Amino acid sequence: MELPNRPDKFSKLGTGEPEAVSPTDMETLMHVISHDLRAPIVTIQGFCQELTMACNRLNELFEEEALSDQVREHLNPLVTQDIPEAVRFIRAGADNVSSVTSGILRFIRLGQMAIQWEGLDVNRLVMGIVTSMEFQLKKKEVVLQIGDLPDCMGDDVLVTQVFANLIDNAHKYLDPARQAEIIISGKTVNGWSAYAIADNGIGIPPEHHDHIFQVFHRLDTKQEGGQGLGLAIVRRIIDRHQGKIEVESIPGKGTTFRVYFPRGMVVEEGEHDES
Ligand code: ATP
Ligand code: MG
Repeated sequence: MELPNRPDKFSKLGTGEPEAVSPTDMETLMHVISHDLRAPIVTIQGFCQELTMACNRLNELFEEEALSDQVREHLNPLVTQDIPEAVRFIRAGADNVSSVTSGILRFIRLGQMAIQWEGLDVNRLVMGIVTSMEFQLKKKEVVLQIGDLPDCMGDDVLVTQVFANLIDNAHKYLDPARQAEIIISGKTVNGWSAYAIADNGIGIPPEHHDHIFQVFHRLDTKQEGGQGLGLAIVRRIIDRHQGKIEVESIPGKGTTFRVYFPRGMVVEEGEHDES
């Protein structure tokens, strides 16, 4: 007997046409999935730890107990290689899912949390970031130039995240074939503080410029890097400050991200005094 067509969850009933999922529904969906995945991931991580401990114990027994050479020959690769390697893969997978889910939750929360406006010393803020990245920057022998950066208004934690993500990208997507350079500069423009983070790295082809700010958009998934969430988070933070971000890039030459933050506090939409 033929079964009737089951209406697809995301199809307009009766038409078979896929229904566009609204950004709000998509965000709710991402929230539910990310939130619900946390418990099983923690379970997997926890049991990986148990398995590692059990394996270590087996190794100790293996040393202590009198076993025949034949049994040792069979057991040895299991406890010293096969099981630990399998556990490493499971843990790496679970850690990866865990950082994606927490990134998604962070991204969603950014749309909801209140901005803690204050005057920010951006020289101090950027120095803090580059100091914490000193090891990575030295490893790639990066020549770093930091100009005098104007103050701006914004949320200390969130603005720090913007600069941290952009400097992280500038250093991550350098070209190993040439002397690495990163230049951070700033100026004031009509009530705005404008900052530029420029690198002489691999660059971004023009057809990707609009997409790099979308979640999970990465140019090369095999390349060293993260989840493709950094620039989506950056753009959301800048939107919340009613600022602006622009990208200029030439593949094979380098990339400059320009960000604009207000010099005075901004009233967010929905926060206007109705009286
Ligand atoms: P995450 O920031 O979540 O750790 P990511 O760096 O891959 O991961 P984004 O910061 O959102 O994600 O960047 C998206 C993609 O844009 C990157 O994967 C990379 O392909 C490209 N990209 C971003 N910044 C640069 C840059 N300065 N130079 C070259 N490519 C870049
Ligand atoms: Mg990034």
